[in-house]
Amino acid sequence: METQFRIAVERRGPLAHVTPQGELDLQVAELLEELVEGALEDGARTVVVDLGQLSFMDSTGLCALVNCREEARRVGAILHVHNVLPTPRRIFEITNLEDLLCTCELGLPEA
Ligand SMILES: [Zn+2]
Repeated sequence: METQFRIAVERRGPLAHVTPQGELDLQVAELLEELVEGALEDGARTVVVDLGQLSFMDSTGLCALVNCREEARRVGAILHVHNVLPTPRRIFEITNLEDLLCTCELGLPEA
């Protein structure tokens, strides 16, 4: 079965901007973790996960984000979760993990 899912990763120095698109389910959650881990290993110290193009997320997606945050902490980096749309946001509220969400305006610096 062909997946509709893609994750875009942009790097600018110590900043990694990760944008999952479509639906965040188990398969994609694993990919997201891999990409964030890879960016951290590669020296990223601020990882922004932009959920602005995410239409759906389940508990595995949430779990992946929690793992990403732990991984970031372990290496002294910071994970930001930005632009959460109303539908995925509900799962953060239900699980009391709203503290994962970030409201800062950090974006990609101009190249
Ligand atoms: Zn932020």
